[in-house]
Formats: sequence, C-alpha cells, structure tokens
Amino acid sequence: MSGPQDKYDALVIGAGVGGLCAAARLVHRGYRTLVVESLPYVGGRASTRDIDGFKINNGAIVVETGGVAEETFREIGAELNLRFPDAPMMMRIGDKDLDIAGGRVNAAMSVVARRGMMLLDRFGGTGAGKAKANLSTADWVARYTKNETVNGAVRNMCASIFSVGADELPAGVFLAYFARTNALAAKVGFCPEGTIGVWKSLASAIVGRGGDVWLSATVTSLRIEDGVVTGASIKKGRKTFEIGADVVVSNIGPRGTLRLVGEENATPNYRAGVRAGDRPTSMISVNFASQEDLISAPGVLSFARTQRLCYVANFTATCPEMAPPGWNLYVGASVPRPALGDFDESAEIELLHQDLREQIPGFERARIISTEVNRGDWPTQRAVAGSDAARTTPFPNLWNVGDGVKEYATGGTGACAQTSKLVVEEIESRYPASLAPHRKQMSEV
Ligand SMILES: Cc1cc2nc3c(=O)[nH]c(=O)nc-3n(C[C@H](O)[C@H](O)[C@H](O)COP(=O)(O)OP(=O)(O)OC[C@H]3O[C@@H](n4cnc5c(N)ncnc54)[C@H](O)[C@@H]3O)c2cc1C
Repeated sequence: MSGPQDKYDALVIGAGVGGLCAAARLVHRGYRTLVVESLPYVGGRASTRDIDGFKINNGAIVVETGGVAEETFREIGAELNLRFPDAPMMMRIGDKDLDIAGGRVNAAMSVVARRGMMLLDRFGGTGAGKAKANLSTADWVARYTKNETVNGAVRNMCASIFSVGADELPAGVFLAYFARTNALAAKVGFCPEGTIGVWKSLASAIVGRGGDVWLSATVTSLRIEDGVVTGASIKKGRKTFEIGADVVVSNIGPRGTLRLVGEENATPNYRAGVRAGDRPTSMISVNFASQEDLISAPGVLSFARTQRLCYVANFTATCPEMAPPGWNLYVGASVPRPALGDFDESAEIELLHQDLREQIPGFERARIISTEVNRGDWPTQRAVAGSDAARTTPFPNLWNVGDGVKEYATGGTGACAQTSKLVVEEIESRYPASLAPHRKQMSEV
C-alpha cells in the first residue's frame, strides 16, 4: 500500500447499538469519527426488514427508555421515536393476564431479590465471585418452592430477559437484576418503523454532526504498530481503503475483534478471557399476522405455564404502521433447550408452535410471516449475562462495546448503550479530543 491515508480520530467497527451509541458520544465530544458497517443497513441485531409490507424485526423488539440509550439520544439531539403500550409487560397466570410492570408485582420481586441476594452472599454466590457462582437460578428457586407456576414464571423471565434457561443463568445474575427497584417497571416502547427506526435516527444524527457512516463496508484487519492500533483495512465493493485512527471501538464482539488484530498479537491471558466469555445465547421467533385480533395484551405478554413460549408481543396495538392496513402483527418467542450450545432446531420450532396453538386461540389460522432462529454468530446475547469478556484489550487504544462485554447482570440494547458510555469515558480521559489532529486526506488503494 502506498500514498496518503484517510485519518480519523476514532474508527467504530459495526453499526449495531453499541457502535452507534459510541459513535454518537464520540462525535458529540468532537472526535472525527468513522463508523464502518458490513451490512447495507444500521442496527445490527436490533434492525428490521420489510416482508410483504410487514415490518419484521431481526432482533430487539422493544427499547427501554430512561437509561443510557435515551441519554445518548438526548446528548446528540436525535429523535427517539417510541410508542408505549398502556400495560407494557403482562404475564398469563392460569387464565388471567396480569400487569406485572405496575407497582405491586415489581416491588415484591425487588424485595424477594434483595433478600435472596443477602442469603446468596452468605454462601459466597455473589460479591467478588459473581460470575463464578455455580448455583443456577433454577436450583435457587427449587430451594424455596416446587410450585410449577412459580418455577415456570422464573424460567420464562430468564428466557425473556437473558435468553437462556433458568438452569443456565447464575442465581446471582437473576437476583442482582431484579434487586433493582424498577426492573419490571422499566418503560419500554415499540418503534412504528420497526426497531431499525430507532437506530436510523441515531445514525442520521451522527452524520448530521459531521461523523461518517459507511454501509456495505467491512473492516478486514487492524494495523498494529509498536503495540498500538494505528489503522484498518476496509473493503467496500471491489475497493480497499486504508484508514488511520487514533482510537478504535469494536462492536463486533471480542472474538471478532481478536480475529482483526490477529490472535498471535494478543496475550494468552486475553485470548483465554475472550474464549471464556464467548457464550452466545439462542432464541426462536415466529412472526405471525392475522386480520382477526388475536391478543388483547397491548405490549409484551409472558407466560408461566408453557413448554417453550416465553413471550408474545403485540406490535400493531400501538404501531399499526408495522403491518398492511387491516392486519395485526405479532411475534411469539422461545428459548430452546439448551440455549447455550447445540439444539434440535426443527423439534424446538414445533414445541414453540404447540405452545402458540395452545395459548393463542386463532394462531392456527394466522399467516406465518417468518421464523427466525438466533444462535451462534447472530445470537440474542453474545455472552450470557455474568460471563462477559473485558471491554479493554491488550492494545491501549482498542476497546470492545456491545452485548459481549456488558456490565454484570444487564442485557439488551440498554446494556450495549452502557458499554459505549463507559468506553467513551475512558477514551475521553486517555485521548482527549482537543489533542486529536483532525486530519482528512482521503485515498483509495
Ligand atoms: C430475537 C432477539 C430479540 C431481542 N429482544 C430484545 C429486546 O426486545 N430489547 C432489547 O433491548 N434487546 C433485545 N435483544 C438484544 C439486542 O438486540 C442485542 O443485545 C443488541 O442489538 C446487540 O447489539 P451490539 O451492540 O452488540 O451489536 P450487533 O447488533 O452485534 O452489531 C454489530 C454490527 O457489526 C457488524 N459487523 C460485524 N463484523 C464487521 C466488520 N468486520 N466490519 C464492519 N462491520 C461489521 C455487523 O454486521 C453488525 O451490524 C434481542 C436480540 C434478539 C436476537
């Protein structure tokens, strides 16, 4: 390669939630920032495609407000277009659909969880050894009750929130999550364009503030000089671009980041940490539509007594734009067994269909729009909560963001936004924007 290079203060690899939130914060702080995304659209696993006029999400269905994600939007001045159902979270217990986001259930869960944490701490299950806690949530609940409804409700909460079975989630993670006062009362909304609308808005604000977003472009390697990342090779169509960058934020998961720097360039300890954290979770989603109104719950309805079905979401009750006129659009989701590891895809899809037929009268007459299986390289969560890898890397100016490097006992888009906030705070303290040279000389190689 020869000739001048394009030089950015910050390169962000991947336009998923973590990448876009990091880029928004960097741009807002004055870093000349480039986001590079392999796909022709933004949002990663929180995106949406159109099938016959139905807006079908490829991952996240609801976005939580009141946390770091919303703070990021406010900071950069992006619109967060969400609609909020009256009862966002309900649970079917017996033949009743109960509002679990409102006051009493939420407060009771929080008290039980705090008490549970105190007891668990006495056994050394949380605190310093959090991630190593070997008592699973299923075992913890079984200590107190054999009631099938309680066990089923906990199993489906683990599935809906963490995308694993209760036997796969450390009890410490479950309890720490619910010990927060507003865990169930978090305000969640649907985007009328499908979830992609949320991230398109953030990407537009990034560009509006002078950032660059390249779609259909793939970072193929990172350049290392004297133990520091100095730039990247980017393939876009038939062209390859060599880019220089002072700091690099990777949104592609720690394993992908390691591939870009070359495993041989990382320490054995770091490689082991990445391997240990590489525990992607799985989920199966059936998107279905009907001209009949099949579900009265206006938001997300979860279940206490099913084989696999953990929730059904009703999109069109608040966002009729997500389906052609006259149609209702829903998704039913399950977490296969095991969620961490291999499973029989067709048997698991059949179990989900059985539950949907049983729980949703009229499902058998519904039109199946798509069945999505999330696993492996396109997981629900890149690391099961509690086993995340480090955000830092052996290179002082290279970080990971996203759901492979979350804070303890967090998950989803809010957790990804939080990783970006933490990383940008570190960048700001170590590589202040005021010292960045802001050069731009573009070259094609
Ligand atoms: C079925 C399902 C339901 C879910 N439901 C919810 C929900 O309701 N609410 C919620 O908050 N969360 C939910 N989640 C979780 C949430 O979607 C994810 O945690 C989040 O979207 C992950 O974002 P991320 O920042 O880790 O980036 P990712 O989404 O993994 O994005 C990474 C991006 O990097 C790109 N990329 C990869 N390699 C390269 C490269 N070399 N060069 C350039 N680009 C590259 C990829 O194409 C991708 O776009 C759900 C997930 C799934 C799958």
